[in-house]
Parts: sequence; C-alpha cells; structure tokens
Amino acid sequence: MRLLLVEDDPMIGRAVRHGLLQAGFVVDWVTDGQFGQAAISNEVYDGVILDIGLPRLDGLTLLQQLRSAQNPIPVLITSARDAVRDRIEGLNAGADDYLLKPFDLDELIARVRALMRRQSMSTSNLMTVGALTLDPSRRVVTKNGEEVALTAKEFAILEVLLHRPGTVLSRERLEESVYGWGEEVGSNAIEVHLHNLRRKLGTDVIRNVRGVGYKIAE
Ligand code: CA
Repeated sequence: MRLLLVEDDPMIGRAVRHGLLQAGFVVDWVTDGQFGQAAISNEVYDGVILDIGLPRLDGLTLLQQLRSAQNPIPVLITSARDAVRDRIEGLNAGADDYLLKPFDLDELIARVRALMRRQSMSTSNLMTVGALTLDPSRRVVTKNGEEVALTAKEFAILEVLLHRPGTVLSRERLEESVYGWGEEVGSNAIEVHLHNLRRKLGTDVIRNVRGVGYKIAE
C-alpha cells in the first residue's frame, strides 16, 4: 500500500515516514500543500496523511479541492488544532479520519489500516482468499495455516492484489503501488516478483490476464 505524507514539520515527517515504512507501507513525503496536490494528481496512492497547517496551500483547501474534483482517495487529517470546530471542519471537508497532534505512531498506523480496510469493504484486518491469508499488521502470509516466507516487495504486491480481489491490475499499476520515489525499479522487476510469488504460493493464486495484468483468483 502506497501512502502520501503531506507534513511540513521535519521531525514529525521523519518519524511518521519511518514508522510507516517499518509497518510495511510505501511512503512518499512532501512538505507543502502544492507538492501534495501535484503528487496526488501524478501518482497512484492508497491513502493520504494530511497536515492542516502547510506552506503554500493548507490541508483543508487541498482536501476540498480533491473532493470537489470527485477524488475519493482516503484522507486522514493530522492537526495540532484542538478546537472541535476545526475537527468538524476537516471531516466536513471530506476527511475520512482525524488525528490530533501529538499522536502515537501506533495509533496512526492502526487508523491508516482501518482506512484501507474500509476502502476494501472488509470487516477484518486479515485478507483471505481460499487457503491464503495475509495479516497486514503482523506482516505474515500463510497458506493452509503454514507460514510462507516472502520478501518485502512480494508481500507488498500480494497485499495490493488482495486489497482489490477480482480486479485486474496492470504491471504499471502494481509498480506504482509498491515503489515510492527514489526507489530503483528494474524494467522487469514486477514480473520477477510475481514469478517468485507464484512459485511460493502456487500458480493458481495469482492469475495473469494476458495483455492486461494480474489478479487474485477467486
Ligand atoms: Ca504543519
């Protein structure tokens, strides 16, 4: 799952980015609202963590612009402003969740996971298809109850596919979902990871739809 972090405070930004990376997310971090706006229109994200007080374009205005352009991307607002009015304003502007600074990193991660879960209409944190189960918080994949050892990228690809069961995702879409800025992507990296995933999980779990992309078999 790839997230955009829009945060101008370098200390908070560094800590949040580090925590999210440790939790297995792909994270791009920008430090003002206009960079945030540009990133959202140019990249594919599964969610945005948005500070309100930002240089150049504040978080609430950015959020209002996204929603008036019918962009449904999940947004969690973080703000130091304690007033109930600000929180209501944020939620009215289309935020999916609101976290007050200073916040606990574990709580932020739990809330981000809850947002992802709501987006995939799932009631459980576990993602299950057939004999396969992926636990995003423990970073564990099992097949028939047996743990399958996956690399970080293999895990990330499987998580993106399981997040949208039945949807065919192109190689480019998978690539955008599991690589952040500054990460070196080999020309056939995604295919190599998919090949290894199918070797480890069995070829029946991930379907290759010729010329279109890949999906989780139902
Ligand atoms: Ca700020």
